[in-house]
Amino acid sequence: MSASYAGLVTFKKAKPDEGLRAAASRKPEEIISEISDSNLKGRGGAGFPTGLKWKFTAKPPCQNKYVVCNADEGEPGTFKDRVILSECPGLVFEGMTIAGRAIGAKRGILYLRGEYSFLRKGLEEVLAERRRNNLLGDAILRTKGFDFDIEIRMGAGAYVCGEETALIESLEGQRGEPRNRPPFPVDTGYLGCPTTVNNVETLAWAALIMANGAAWFKKSGTDKSAGPKILSVSGDCARPGIYEFPMGVTVEELLKEVGAQDAKAVQVGGASGRCLGASEFKRKIAYEDISTGGSIIVFGRDRDMLEVAENFLEFFVEESCGQCTPCREGNRKLLEGVRLLKEGRCSMRYLKELMSLGETMQLASKCGLGQSSPNAFISIIENFRDEIMGRTS
Ligand code: SF4
Repeated sequence: MSASYAGLVTFKKAKPDEGLRAAASRKPEEIISEISDSNLKGRGGAGFPTGLKWKFTAKPPCQNKYVVCNADEGEPGTFKDRVILSECPGLVFEGMTIAGRAIGAKRGILYLRGEYSFLRKGLEEVLAERRRNNLLGDAILRTKGFDFDIEIRMGAGAYVCGEETALIESLEGQRGEPRNRPPFPVDTGYLGCPTTVNNVETLAWAALIMANGAAWFKKSGTDKSAGPKILSVSGDCARPGIYEFPMGVTVEELLKEVGAQDAKAVQVGGASGRCLGASEFKRKIAYEDISTGGSIIVFGRDRDMLEVAENFLEFFVEESCGQCTPCREGNRKLLEGVRLLKEGRCSMRYLKELMSLGETMQLASKCGLGQSSPNAFISIIENFRDEIMGRTS
């Protein structure tokens, strides 16, 4: 490994709008086929195949379809989408425009995290320039019937709006709460129309795949997790920041690169991810092993793992939308339990009940927030057993 993994290595080298020019000369089904062949999967964390999502959205014979770029980057420890939108916004808009041609949409919406409002002015200027250069609007690149434009809409700071159906509710002016699924947004999305919701990074890679081909993308990564992944690294390490690693990089390799060989724990996937101890550092960051939307938080030897769990649970108690009982009440109970543990007032029997509650939340919560919110708690109890068992009453 070398320092060349730091930063947006590949995005910065991209030739502007090469992917869009390739897409303009190809039929929608050819674009979907290229993206499907690349094995690109959603970079927001869920890992759904992008080509399949575009294929599903292209299928319904509907006049109004939408491309939504999910820039509601709220996972604690994740900041890579902010950097991509700051340093390579054209690549993201290019990807959205390609998605529009692929699915037959004429409108795209960038849903920007409320806390990123400072980016809006610069993004609007990039959009205006793209309109002037015939990269947005009617007959893009003088291609008859290739009409597409993008608007920016602001989120208001709710973490749950990163979930695609809550995001769509928010776009429609409702309270941002997840919908029951099915129907899925690819059939019934924004304003009841077929909608593809893709992450910022996913759309940027889609633009590069159209420029360079599916085979180019698959040269990096593993069989099941093609391509590179942008990661946001923070916490107890010498060199925090943005990194581009090939999918399949081990946690150990990553720690060496960021200057954290002596780490005690690594939280992969933000607050909703898993907390790994040193015995798991040989595991791979990939969809088939440990998946992440991009957040890597390193904890050094002196960290109290119960404080880590408490911090994440405080976040989820605050951010639960309150619709369903397992998530609304379960997160509160887990937080109370961690505080009891910290005070030495939690018995082994009660700790087992809390673990069982966490598993119930994973199964019974309505959306990904409640299904994943116990992950950090459960993995900390499992992976730091010796440290925690000594604190039970
Ligand atoms: S799991 Fe949590 S965030 Fe999701 S719907 Fe239920 S209460 Fe709301």
